[in-house]
Amino acid sequence: MNLMKLEQDGSRGVAYEERICKYCNLNVVEDELHFLMECPKYAESRSKFIDFVNHKEPSLLWGLGRDIRICFRAIMASHCKEIIRVVADFIWDAFAVREAVGVI
Ligand SMILES: [Zn+2]
Repeated sequence: MNLMKLEQDGSRGVAYEERICKYCNLNVVEDELHFLMECPKYAESRSKFIDFVNHKEPSLLWGLGRDIRICFRAIMASHCKEIIRVVADFIWDAFAVREAVGVI
């Protein structure tokens, strides 16, 4: 199973700042925030989940455009089963994209 760069490299002793996302050209650390909210590689899958969140719990996205970390934390802290499900679906879709690309 492919893991995020952060998880893979963490177990290999790679410094945090060197765990760069290989799925886009933003040259940023691939952490959970980048994976879920930023990486353009998953934009299509993300738009489905963001649209759902915006419909179900728009308050979770109030920070979008100002500080994406606020939205990330709000979504991760949600106890709404439908939100959790749509995030899980996003992760599933994103990992399918990663496998299709074939980058480690
Ligand atoms: Zn990326």
